[in-house]
Amino acid sequence: EKLKLPPKIKPLDVSVINRIAAGEIIVTPANALKEMLENSIDAGSTSIDIVVKDGGLKLLQITDNGHGINKDDLAILCERFTTSKISSFEDLNAIATYGFRGEALASISHIAHLTVTTRSKDSDCAWRATYLDGKLVPARGGASADPRPVAGRNGTQILVEDLFFNVPSRLRAFRSPADEYNRIADVVGRYAIHSDGISFTCKKHGEAHHSLITTAQASTIDRIRTVYGVAIANELVKVSVAEDKRLGLVGASGYITNANFNAKKSYQPVLFINHRAVTCDPLKRALAQLYSAFLPKGSHSFTYLSLLIAPDKLDVNVHPTKREVRFLNEDEIIQRICDNVQHVLGEVDTSRAFKTQS
Ligand code: ADP
Ligand code: MG
Repeated sequence: EKLKLPPKIKPLDVSVINRIAAGEIIVTPANALKEMLENSIDAGSTSIDIVVKDGGLKLLQITDNGHGINKDDLAILCERFTTSKISSFEDLNAIATYGFRGEALASISHIAHLTVTTRSKDSDCAWRATYLDGKLVPARGGASADPRPVAGRNGTQILVEDLFFNVPSRLRAFRSPADEYNRIADVVGRYAIHSDGISFTCKKHGEAHHSLITTAQASTIDRIRTVYGVAIANELVKVSVAEDKRLGLVGASGYITNANFNAKKSYQPVLFINHRAVTCDPLKRALAQLYSAFLPKGSHSFTYLSLLIAPDKLDVNVHPTKREVRFLNEDEIIQRICDNVQHVLGEVDTSRAFKTQS
């Protein structure tokens, strides 16, 4: 008698499904920004400019000078699983570009107002299109959903407004636009360090002052100085690990602080695997342990490492946010890196000892 009747099972509305799926890929404004940054880099850009309002919740704009998007592709640009980057499942084994599943822009269009302005070098003008829920829609005040011609330079500008406007629970979870801005600046800073030959700027909307500017010609150390400051840049030593075909390691390189540098605050390693900003907890732990032999207790290092792993040994398809990457022979590869780091830190240590003796 107390038993209720079973509730009826019914399919969710597609728009609800899409919104849920989008919220799993785009969790914060910084996630959206990372996807768009990677798209700009994939497009061969040498200049990327970012403007942010209210931590990216009100406005997120990224302007690049890459190859642009064909006008004819604009109609399907924001449909799920449309991409110019792969065409077969096997292509995932040799993925050279950042994006690969055509989900980012689609997702954003389900949880924000999205406007794309783009011009390819064979076009006489730029084209502007507005999207909602994966489809072209008329711009505010406009009648037609078709892309409209506008003046503009080669490249692409993506404008994301009112992110999470239709996901009120998510919106309420954001306490402080300042925190969200810092997350965005952190992502931009990481890519700015890693992306040789690309200039970056990042600023808050309405402010003249940029919180980040790097030039295309800047060296890696210059970039680290710009983003993380002179105290770190002055104490960097180079790391490099040679290829090991058996392990599927193509190589590893980067810069790490020597034992002269010890920060009170800890820095999340700036880690790129096959040019993707990722986290790798086992590597992070191994480095922290290694440094503990060189640094005073409770102090921290800064590390920037770029790993190249044979694409067929890397699983980039682990999670939609693509942050956590797994690869074969992880332990051995981490050991190789740590051996080199140990060697490099040891050398700096002895040269200091030598200097003080003489
Ligand atoms: P993916 O990057 O996985 O292909 P996205 O949703 O991020 O999926 O992008 C879909 C497609 O839109 C890309 O394959 C690319 O062709 C195009 N695109 C997106 N952003 C840019 C950009 N900034 N410049 C040129 N093309 C872009
Ligand atoms: Mg992409």
